[in-house]
Amino acid sequence: MGDNCVSAQAGLLSGLGRRALVVTGARSARANGSLADLEAALAANGQTCAVFDKVMENPTIDCVYEGAALARKEGADFVVGVGGGSPMDAAKAIAWLACEDVPREKLFSGCFGKRLPLCCIPTTAGTGSEVTQYSVLTDDARQTKASLSSPLLFPDLALLDGKYMDALPHRTTVNTVIDSLSHSMEGYVSAKANPLSDRLALTAVEIIGGILPRLTEDRLTAEDRAQLLYASTLGGMVIAHTGTTAVHAMGYPLTYFRQAPHGRANGLLLPDFLAMVARQFPQRVEALTKAVGAADLPAFKGMLAALLGEREVLTLQEAEAFTDSASRAKNLANCVLPFGRDEVRALYRAAFGV
Ligand code: NAP
Ligand code: FE
Repeated sequence: MGDNCVSAQAGLLSGLGRRALVVTGARSARANGSLADLEAALAANGQTCAVFDKVMENPTIDCVYEGAALARKEGADFVVGVGGGSPMDAAKAIAWLACEDVPREKLFSGCFGKRLPLCCIPTTAGTGSEVTQYSVLTDDARQTKASLSSPLLFPDLALLDGKYMDALPHRTTVNTVIDSLSHSMEGYVSAKANPLSDRLALTAVEIIGGILPRLTEDRLTAEDRAQLLYASTLGGMVIAHTGTTAVHAMGYPLTYFRQAPHGRANGLLLPDFLAMVARQFPQRVEALTKAVGAADLPAFKGMLAALLGEREVLTLQEAEAFTDSASRAKNLANCVLPFGRDEVRALYRAAFGV
């Protein structure tokens, strides 16, 4: 990580292959300079590339099969994902599907064999996907988002330069920072938390907490951006250990059916989730509120409310339908307290006042 690291560390790319498929979104990587830096680094190494720039937010299964077909057609022997979590997650799936003929009905079967070498270059400080074994895809057949999860999906290389976020719109910055805060906070109250993930989580929460006042006032410095990127990578390392929990599981229907951006969806649920956890594990939650710099949980809820602005309104019918959908999510099992259908319903009702 660091200023101009894509060009400074270009040599690290040279071991990955001869021809890259660069996987990115429609616009931002061209606008923020990351794509140009990558193309220059590859050219300096004598490597060539083809660009797949069709990754939409919350990438679909169709999208990753299309990218994998292009990788084969172009003869790519490695993949670089450049962008937010959506292009990085798509790049992971493409690196796998370019190597293996996986029928769509077997996509989530958990059988992974091999993939092309893979580098990720994040341009949001949110998902930490550059250091996780997950690829989150939109599954229209099941009307929700679902994760591929395998050690095979850990990228070989991640290059982090905060300058690509200089012109990241305030709304996207807020939503993605809340996503990374959610990773570290959920990870800290996961049943799979361990002493290492705890240290990473508290460090990330402290960094983000120190920057939250400037984020709320939309006056981030370049150093803040670099620190937020570092914190989001730590958050990715946390969920690589702990998985995400009820907040992510319950955020997916808000994204699928109500188009709430991923991080925002988490933020709408996070404080009320922590309130439920605090009833059984008050010290864990207290450590988190202290780390983020809030006097108590209501104060933290107020900090998030200032970032989130006007909240979505849910009908009772929607809350019930979302309860059905989220109750099937595997990551509920990662919660430190039993989290079944009744708890899911109670959290939607508490968070949305229905
Ligand atoms: P994103 O969906 O990748 O991007 C959101 C928007 O921000 C897009 O319009 C994108 O434009 C734009 N953008 C990205 N970087 C920019 C920059 N530097 N400057 C200006 N605009 C920029 O957002 P995200 O929140 O990073 O990723 C969310 C996805 O990651 C979700 O699908 C979520 O489920 C997943 N996720 C994955 C993990 C994991 O471990 N794998 C963890 C959490 C979340 P372009 O489309 O033009 O690029
Ligand atoms: Fe997330």
